[in-house]
Amino acid sequence: EYIAVNELANLMGVSVSEVISKCISLGLMVSINQRLDVETITLIADDFGFEIELVEEFQTDVDADIPDPEETLKPRPPVVTIMGHVDHGKTSLLDFIRSANVVAGEAGGITQHIGAYKVSIDGGKEITFLDTPGHEAFTAMRARGAKVTDIVVLIVAADDAVMPQTVEAINHAQAANVPIIVAINKIDKPNSNIEKIKQQLAERNILVEDWGGKYQCVEVSAKLGKNVDLLLEKILLEAELLDLKANPDRKARGTIIESQLDKGRGITATVLVQKGTLKIGDPFIAGVTHGRVRAMFDERGKKVSEAPPSTPVLVLGFESAPQAGDTFVAVESEREAREISIKRLQVKREQDHRQVHHITLDEIANQISIGGVKELPIIVKGDVDGSIEALSDALMKLSNQEVQVKVIHKGVGAISEGDVLLAAASKAIIIGFHVRPNVNARKLAETEKVDIRLYNIIYDAINEVKSALEGMLSPVL
Ligand code: GDP
Repeated sequence: EYIAVNELANLMGVSVSEVISKCISLGLMVSINQRLDVETITLIADDFGFEIELVEEFQTDVDADIPDPEETLKPRPPVVTIMGHVDHGKTSLLDFIRSANVVAGEAGGITQHIGAYKVSIDGGKEITFLDTPGHEAFTAMRARGAKVTDIVVLIVAADDAVMPQTVEAINHAQAANVPIIVAINKIDKPNSNIEKIKQQLAERNILVEDWGGKYQCVEVSAKLGKNVDLLLEKILLEAELLDLKANPDRKARGTIIESQLDKGRGITATVLVQKGTLKIGDPFIAGVTHGRVRAMFDERGKKVSEAPPSTPVLVLGFESAPQAGDTFVAVESEREAREISIKRLQVKREQDHRQVHHITLDEIANQISIGGVKELPIIVKGDVDGSIEALSDALMKLSNQEVQVKVIHKGVGAISEGDVLLAAASKAIIIGFHVRPNVNARKLAETEKVDIRLYNIIYDAINEVKSALEGMLSPVL
């Protein structure tokens, strides 16, 4: 017995009733959740023009992120991303932390941009920062299935205000369930107004600690380096609460942060090791490519021979360039690495061909009708604030006992690439009211298979989502 009637219907993109009537014609009375045997599955699939391929249930460590036994886990440093509105000081903060925390006795500091760096704090504690600030990179990774960030530092300039990208950052972090620490920046400026920022954050449900909320908040000057040590302490405190651990004594597993083509060295890529320890000579798979670790460098350009959990390293030895967000897995032998990467390439080609990841409203309606969906995340973009609020409220009110409608992000303006990435990462659909996607967003939506629905009448938008919730949306032509 393998998959159930509803799962099979789902896989083939046909309705459950079609599968059931097919079963009946085969002389089988089945219920929605009934599991079918291989023979029946093959017959039915054949009828709908699909071919069945049996794969072993057994998942290897390469495919799945299998948790390590509790007793093997040891504390690991937190991985932090800094987010916030443009010009609020993300780069300045990253630069200050980078230059201020040169490990004792090491001259020169961080010389290379490799996409991430690790700093040592007094007392031997460490923190890893992702060096590409902003929520776009963060969500692009998430859309590819990578979860690398443990903590988000949300930076808001005290001489400005909570701005659209501040709100986006909050929504992206929350959609990913990553805790936020607030850094109110530029407090050296005479026109800074810290209380105003706290007030505006409170209006977005980010209530900071001294306002009785749960969010840690530090008032800093990235330019002067004021209170940055305090911020680092708060990050460590948050990390302690999260109880971050990994098993260092196993083959490494991590994520590609970025890849570079170096004139002298060829393809290099930064790997953030998340569990295990990466060593020179380790064969590995990264996405659909593979290789063998020929050399590793840290962010100071120094050769290293081992990289434990939460360590970013520049790796040499890739067969071809991996993509940011690809999973990186060290394996036993080069032969295994090559075989798996060939298999993955094949699967990828087939998937590209079949476009399996569709997250359309129709698909959701289908899933809802068979009870497969409990939540419908939506992103609402519109031309004016008032109508966005009205539409969002109306959509959320459509929630019923089975399915909850969640507006995970809303805002004024054209549908952007950021919106599409957030939708892809959160399996959400995008509703545009009197706005359209820009060219890049449209292209990205095509490759990421994100459903963008455009409306000029609020009533139409509400009605369509309502029909989807009732699991009876008529397909768009
Ligand atoms: P990003 O776009 O968020 O990366 O912001 P940047 O780090 O590039 O900073 C934008 C501008 O604000 C730059 O001119 C910085 O010098 C300035 N800036 C950043 N932090 C501070 C600060 O704490 N105080 C003051 N006075 N200026 C700052």
